[in-house]
Amino acid sequence: MSAEPGAATIEARGLTRKFGAHTAVKGIDLELKRGEVLGFLGPNGAGKTTTMQMLTGNLAPTGGAINICGIDLLEAPVAAKARIGYLPEHPPLYREFTVDEYLLLAAKLHRVPRARCREAVETSKRRCGLANSGAKLLGTLSRGFQQRVGIAQAIVHGPDVVILDEPTVGLDPHQIREIRSLIRELGGKHSVILSTHILPEVEAVCDRVQILHHGNVVYGDTIAALKRSRGGSAVLLGLQRAPSLDTLAAIPGIAQVHAVSPVLFRVDFRPHDDATERLAAQAAKNDWGLFQISPVHTSLEDVFVQLTRHEEVD
Ligand code: ATP
Repeated sequence: MSAEPGAATIEARGLTRKFGAHTAVKGIDLELKRGEVLGFLGPNGAGKTTTMQMLTGNLAPTGGAINICGIDLLEAPVAAKARIGYLPEHPPLYREFTVDEYLLLAAKLHRVPRARCREAVETSKRRCGLANSGAKLLGTLSRGFQQRVGIAQAIVHGPDVVILDEPTVGLDPHQIREIRSLIRELGGKHSVILSTHILPEVEAVCDRVQILHHGNVVYGDTIAALKRSRGGSAVLLGLQRAPSLDTLAAIPGIAQVHAVSPVLFRVDFRPHDDATERLAAQAAKNDWGLFQISPVHTSLEDVFVQLTRHEEVD
C-alpha cells in the first residue's frame, strides 16, 4: 500500500522532546503530503535535527504522536520505518566499501526481500546518477558523490517519505545544483523533508517551509504564498540624477526610501500597492537617469531574520 497523491504521508501532533530540564521541541504539529518538499529552517539549536530524529524513529519523543502513511510510528515502528528513508547530518559511510556493497547492505537493513535487492540497488543508483559508480570505493569518491550515495541509501527501499538533514552542506556550487535537482526530482515521487541553513535553497527546491525557533514552529506556509505576500513589496532603484529622498517618498504608494549609495535606493511600497510603474514614469518625466529598477529578492531571509532575531544562549 502506498499513499495516494495528496494524502498525508507524515502527520505529527504535539511533538515534544525534553533533554533533562531543557525542552528542545515544544509540542509542534507537522503535516506532509505525497509529492511535497518541505523545507525545515531554523537557527542552530532550534530543534531541527531532534525533530527529524523523532520523525524517523531514531529518537523517542517525550510526548505527541507520529503517523507515517497512517501507521502509528510509536505503536508499529517496524512497519512505519519501512516507509521512511533518512539521510542523517553525518551519514555513516564505510570508506572501504564499494558503492554496490554499501547500497546492498542498506537494502538488506531496510528489509528489501533478498530476490529484489539487486534491482533495488540498480534503481537507486540510476536515480542518483551513480549508474557507473558501483565498483568505486566510498573513500575515493568526491563529497558530492558521497552525498549521492547517502541519498541513494535513503531511497533504496522505495520509501514514501525521504528525510534529509542538511543535504548540501560542504558541497561546491556545482554539486549543490546537482543535489538540489535530485531532491526536486525525488519530490515528484516521494514526500521530502530537508533541513538547511541556505535560504535560497528552500525557495529553489521546496513547496512549503516551516521555520523552527527555540523548539516552536514560528512560521509555516507555502513558498508560493510567501512570494505572494512579500513579492513586489520593495525595489532597488538606480538613478544617475536622483532627486531628494523626500521627493521620491512623496510618490503615491511609497512607504519609505533608503539610500544604499548616492545613485542606488531601496524603495519600500505600501502593502498591496506596487508602485513600480509610477516610479518609472516619474523618473522618465523628470529625467532622473533611471538605469535600474529591480524587485528586492530577500523575502524568505526577511521573514527568517524577523522571526528568529533574538537568540538565546543555550
Ligand atoms: P543545528 O542547526 O545546529 O544542527 P538543530 O536545529 O538541528 O541545530 P538540535 O540539534 O535539534 O538543533 O538541538 C536542539 C536543542 O536540543 C539544542 O539546545 C541542543 O543543545 C539540545 N540537544 C540536542 N540533542 C541533545 C542531547 N542528546 N542531549 C542534550 N541536549 C540535546
